[in-house]
Amino acid sequence: MDKAKAYSAAGATTPLALDTIPRRAVTDRDVKIEILFCGICHSDLHTVRNEWSSVMETVYPCVPGHEIVGRVTAVGAAVSRHEVGDLVGVGCLVDSDHTCPACRADMEQFCPGAVFTYNGPDRHLGGVTYGGYSESVVVDEAFVLRVPANLDLAGVAPLLCAGITTYSPLRHWKVGPGKKVGVVGLGGLGHMGVKFARAFGAHVVVFTTSPEKAKDALRLGAHEVVNSRDADAMAKHAFSFDFILDTVSADHDVNAYIGLLSLDGNLTLVGAPEKPLPVSSFALLFGRKSVSGSLIGGIAETQEMLDFCGEHGITADVEVIPIQQVNEAYERMLRSDVKYRFCIDMASLKNA
Ligand SMILES: [Zn+2]
Ligand SMILES: [Zn+2]
Repeated sequence: MDKAKAYSAAGATTPLALDTIPRRAVTDRDVKIEILFCGICHSDLHTVRNEWSSVMETVYPCVPGHEIVGRVTAVGAAVSRHEVGDLVGVGCLVDSDHTCPACRADMEQFCPGAVFTYNGPDRHLGGVTYGGYSESVVVDEAFVLRVPANLDLAGVAPLLCAGITTYSPLRHWKVGPGKKVGVVGLGGLGHMGVKFARAFGAHVVVFTTSPEKAKDALRLGAHEVVNSRDADAMAKHAFSFDFILDTVSADHDVNAYIGLLSLDGNLTLVGAPEKPLPVSSFALLFGRKSVSGSLIGGIAETQEMLDFCGEHGITADVEVIPIQQVNEAYERMLRSDVKYRFCIDMASLKNA
């Protein structure tokens, strides 16, 4: 067993602070990664503060981080996909049972035995898994992604969660040329949704409650921006959307958006508001509309997404910070004061 520097939270109300954590010795199937960048996802904050205790209780100390980019420093004897020196990424998953129907269909995210990158059951060391706010990580090669060499690495890190979370439903619902697509919310997820929907060739409309974001939405690739508080502006788009990606994690009125879907239109939720959202059945009946959810993506699709980003020069818009500013970044994230994702430069942990 090795040790690694990390930032951990000792409890739900404790700030993240420097710590030392165990990392397993590299097994035959493992890849050891020196972490270069780690994005800050809203899930990190929810988990650190035990806000999802009804679904999964947080075990402390908690080391979050599932938007990991780094360089391979060691590989096990049986590893065939990665070599020392390779640029690689790790997202929300580090293991699964490899045998269930979901795994066989390349959808490990829905595996009942899926192991999440942090706060998941650690099958090697016991306790829970520790995430990417750390100098290194050891991961089964099957869950390690290849990172295109032409992209800015800080901007790649958020692709591993925010990227695949938006890419997967846009692909599933066949967003492409000739389709009118809405993106609700322009944060970490929404700004990636806009970039992908545009790159797929769709007509992209951003809905936001912050009109000052309009210019930025257009810069990111939107064709139109609608202030969702403006009833007249909303009414102009009634029954016109093939697909709407709803990235909002706060309480909001989904029926206002269902009304904008056309025949057989779909609205997919990728945010997770705390309380159930009321859905009007009438809004669904008239037009055979549907509301769905989507959760990250499988490993094969995550690789496809990274390769697509490499070909099209797509990365997240990030504000790079040293790890010493992570607690401040959490407070700013709560105020939506970030364009559009914080990313930790892990070199800052070396001298910590
Ligand atoms: Zn995430
Ligand atoms: Zn499985």
